[in-house]
Amino acid sequence: ETSTLKYKRVLLKLSGEALMGPGQFGIDIPTIEHFARAIADARTAGAEICLVIGGGNIFRGMAGAAKGMERAQADSMGMLATVMNALAMQSVLESQGVPTRVQSAIAMDQICEPYIRRRAQRHMEKGRVVIFAAGIGNPFFTTDTGAALRAIEMNCDALLKGTQVDGVYTADPRLDSTAARYEQVAYQEILAKDLRVMDPSAVSLMRDNNIPIVVFSLKEEGSLLNVLHGRGKSTTIS
Ligand code: UDP
Repeated sequence: ETSTLKYKRVLLKLSGEALMGPGQFGIDIPTIEHFARAIADARTAGAEICLVIGGGNIFRGMAGAAKGMERAQADSMGMLATVMNALAMQSVLESQGVPTRVQSAIAMDQICEPYIRRRAQRHMEKGRVVIFAAGIGNPFFTTDTGAALRAIEMNCDALLKGTQVDGVYTADPRLDSTAARYEQVAYQEILAKDLRVMDPSAVSLMRDNNIPIVVFSLKEEGSLLNVLHGRGKSTTIS
């Protein structure tokens, strides 16, 4: 079973906005249940999974700064938002029988574990889904960069970026009818053309460490399993 997986150990990055579901703000539990089922299925298929979830459904540092807050202070709020999302995901995963641990880059010992790389590795070996919260724990970064860093630290085979669209396009498909999806695209092309599928700092970290990024749609049923098996629609950045 496991031997048929193209990627065995993966980091799945979900944006905070993905957790809003049909809403405009915050956490939609049925939407999280849907993601949790996909994660549970992937785990049953033999994948070792860790997660990074953004915080944009609750608070973004840039938005706070735009309203006059000090950026570093606003970014702390953004990081706290990612902890809330991580706890919501943990709760739903565990209700579906998936063992999990949350590790935060900012110590909150009463709520979750602190980030300890070797301990996180061990959790993954034991089949637990590790949810990394609070990004990298520093302001002026994003959870994309946090996802890249953790994917490298966990020796992941790929960073899976779940989005609303099924990959990276040559142009915005909503504005340009000739836009085509890349099956495969080089890190350098993403950076040179400024195709903003992930933060450039995250893309360059993945390039330097030679770990592919797979961009795929979370909307389609079974898409996570498809990506793990190397089939279905997606774009691989490598
Ligand atoms: N953030 C931060 N440092 C990090 C990760 C995140 O300061 O290492 C803050 C930043 O303010 C960011 C917010 O947390 O806007 C939420 O994360 P992000 O915007 O990456 O979430 P997403 O867009 O994926 O929902």
